[in-house]
Amino acid sequence: MAKTLDIVPVSEWGFFTLPRPMVIAGPCSAESQEQVLETAAGLAAFGIHVFRAGIWKPRTHPGSFEGVGTPGLKWLQQVKRDYGMKVATEVAGDKHVFECIKYGVDMVWLGARTTANPFLVQEIADALSDTDIPVLVKNPVNPDLDLWIGALERLNRAGVKKLGVIHRGFSSSEKMAYRNDPLWKIAIELRTRYPELPFFADPSHMGGSRDYLQEISQRAMDLGLDGLMIESHCNPSAALSDASQQLTPKALQHMLESIVVRDNDSDSREYREGIDQLRAQIDIIDENLLYAFNTRMGISRKIGQYKKDHNIAILQTSRWDSILEKMKEKARQSGLSEEFIETVFTAIHEESVRIQNDVLER
Ligand code: PEP
Ligand code: MN
Repeated sequence: MAKTLDIVPVSEWGFFTLPRPMVIAGPCSAESQEQVLETAAGLAAFGIHVFRAGIWKPRTHPGSFEGVGTPGLKWLQQVKRDYGMKVATEVAGDKHVFECIKYGVDMVWLGARTTANPFLVQEIADALSDTDIPVLVKNPVNPDLDLWIGALERLNRAGVKKLGVIHRGFSSSEKMAYRNDPLWKIAIELRTRYPELPFFADPSHMGGSRDYLQEISQRAMDLGLDGLMIESHCNPSAALSDASQQLTPKALQHMLESIVVRDNDSDSREYREGIDQLRAQIDIIDENLLYAFNTRMGISRKIGQYKKDHNIAILQTSRWDSILEKMKEKARQSGLSEEFIETVFTAIHEESVRIQNDVLER
């Protein structure tokens, strides 16, 4: 069972006033005072309350624009003063944290490359330990849920209680349309283990292109996530980093207005009764499945014994291949996903082999 995290509910951070989605927006990088202020003005104009801008940028190649550094923190102070926004930036080490504290940055996040490095996470956690600054942790670049959770635990142990996460997708060697593989199942797993953790999606870095922002944001809302972090730039085509995935504040406003946000739950009596009935049916079917698994594994045990008595090896791959093919054919006919059926029966088969092995070794 997962350990619990000791966290302060996001409703007590004093950051987000609107209902879902909570939105954090701003440029990939702070580039100039004018760019920062113009972008912030455009975002504040339609109610965005939390401004993001990278000050130190982790770039793949040296010589790319690596951020303006500390001078940019003054521009963030001006965004706070002029527009009453909260400001957030990425930190990748304790020096960044100390600069952020000095300049009154309201919230920080750990980038994907940093989350993948426990030394840096610990250094950042220690630097933040006497502060009350909220911290959002992006998923590590590699699809390793434990590494993500480990970063949350390090921060939490250091006393960071205003904690949240940002799902930005995972690096992949597969060729695909998105810049990073969403692997939503990892996000869903984390969400299930820590339902109280504020959960943001980052469609900008996941999609890598303006064209995908809408569909990814919609998906994030359909999964019931709390918020979105989206890159917005007053002049996207001239951006010094991530130009193809940024939107003008106006375009971001339109995009957000096009998203359908469904409630996470409802108190209405009619909804309650309907959903309770359906869930009761599911509960019965799940129990039947459990009973069927149990019966099936009992037979596997008998088969194991029978093979042992007759000195026969456990694995007969041709038999297994034909079972799987038959099941996939039935899945096709009944409209079930073949991939799903293959996953389920492969798991059943593995367990069956394990049980027969047990019998044989006894
Ligand atoms: C960013 O938010 O600009 C950034 C560098 O993101 P990531 O850490 O997700 O790559
Ligand atoms: Mn970026």
